[in-house]
Amino acid sequence: MQKAGAAMPERDLPFEAAIDRFRGLLKEQAERVERIGKPTEWLDYATLDRLVIGVVGGDGIGPTIAKEAKKVLEVLLSGELKSGRVEIREIQGLTIENRAKQSKPLPDEVLEEIKKCHVLLKGPTTTPDEGSGLPNIESANIAIRKAFDLFANVRPVKVPSQGIDWVFFRENTEGEYVLGSKGIMVTPDLAVDFKVVTRPGSQRIIRLAFEHARKTGRRRVTVVTKANIIKTTDGLFLETAKKVAKDFPEINWDGWYVDVFTAKLIDEKRRREFEVVVLPNLYGDIVTDEAAELQGGVGTAGSANIGARFGMFEAIHGSAPRMVAEGREEYADPLSLMRAGVMLLEHVGMLEKSRRLSMALDVCGVYEQRLKVTGRADGAKASQFGDYVVSALSDPRLEERWVAHQKG
Ligand code: NAD
Repeated sequence: MQKAGAAMPERDLPFEAAIDRFRGLLKEQAERVERIGKPTEWLDYATLDRLVIGVVGGDGIGPTIAKEAKKVLEVLLSGELKSGRVEIREIQGLTIENRAKQSKPLPDEVLEEIKKCHVLLKGPTTTPDEGSGLPNIESANIAIRKAFDLFANVRPVKVPSQGIDWVFFRENTEGEYVLGSKGIMVTPDLAVDFKVVTRPGSQRIIRLAFEHARKTGRRRVTVVTKANIIKTTDGLFLETAKKVAKDFPEINWDGWYVDVFTAKLIDEKRRREFEVVVLPNLYGDIVTDEAAELQGGVGTAGSANIGARFGMFEAIHGSAPRMVAEGREEYADPLSLMRAGVMLLEHVGMLEKSRRLSMALDVCGVYEQRLKVTGRADGAKASQFGDYVVSALSDPRLEERWVAHQKG
């Protein structure tokens, strides 16, 4: 060791250390490519005798909104809960206090409990910031996505009055995030992070987006990258899209660069034309928050994290510590997590239940708005909005109320 050090110019020493770490990262990623490249059989939820839905409260406003989302699911699924066909199981311990105590993003005993469920409805979880005094642990979300290989983050955004009906497919396990906490500080003045895109990783998310378009009768898939500049990784994503698209000749597809695509999302005329959008991880993260804002804010948007054998459904926002610090958590909007519930029911094949919940949320949260959640004391509490949705679900005229707004 000393010998090698002596032979090497001193200024190259940090590079050697960085190259060693880089070699390790490449090995890890090559193993992952091999793993995800193998064919996987999708879980067929219709074959289950008993569906177990796990519910995790999470941190900050999480427990408040999770309680309301659970409440509406319990009303909607009362028959199935009674017969034992469905179980809703609360999972404890995915709190920042427990994760910090164990210095683990996903404590083993929590992971074991989650593994006993078929799908998870999850409240947002806090990821400690630098300087927060908490251990520098990875995001619990990223840990769950990795543990269950939840490669697709699906985020619908709808604003019927403006002709907006988008479904975003964000790649969930690669890009800048997969090695997000493994960047290298090569020298005190030189920081390097990594972006990873793989062929099987791109194929599976792009294929899922095209299949969704086909299944739902949509005619267009838009692929968003920055392949003109980030030529290797985004280039591979775009090249993969071109190949996958050949299997879906009835669907039009086009490629956009993320900068102009982001601009077009606020162009009222052009944005109506988008239908299904598929993007690598970081662009997907940013663009879907922008899109959710057009729908009424992050508090209104749900998302699905889908893998072949497990699904996690959550709000697109975080634990809103500012709301908690200001004592406003009871005014948090539970619509986001209820929308995630709609996606959960659809994913497990309970299409009629999913449609009914979606109608109730449209009626209460978009059309009638007899109670409005503003995030502040001038609006309704999460629990009041929960009761409003429960009353809509119990109304035999719910569909009529919903249809009236479709026409008008
Ligand atoms: P945030 O999404 O938690 O909140 C930003 C702001 O959005 C809030 O201050 C509030 O004004 C508004 N908001 C969010 N949800 C709302 C709701 N349901 N009702 C009304 N208003 C709502 O963003 P942040 O402050 O950047 O993140 C806080 C923490 O959450 C961080 O630790 C972050 O890492 C984590 N996070 C977790 C997830 C997840 O678990 N999926 C996602 C994003 C962020």
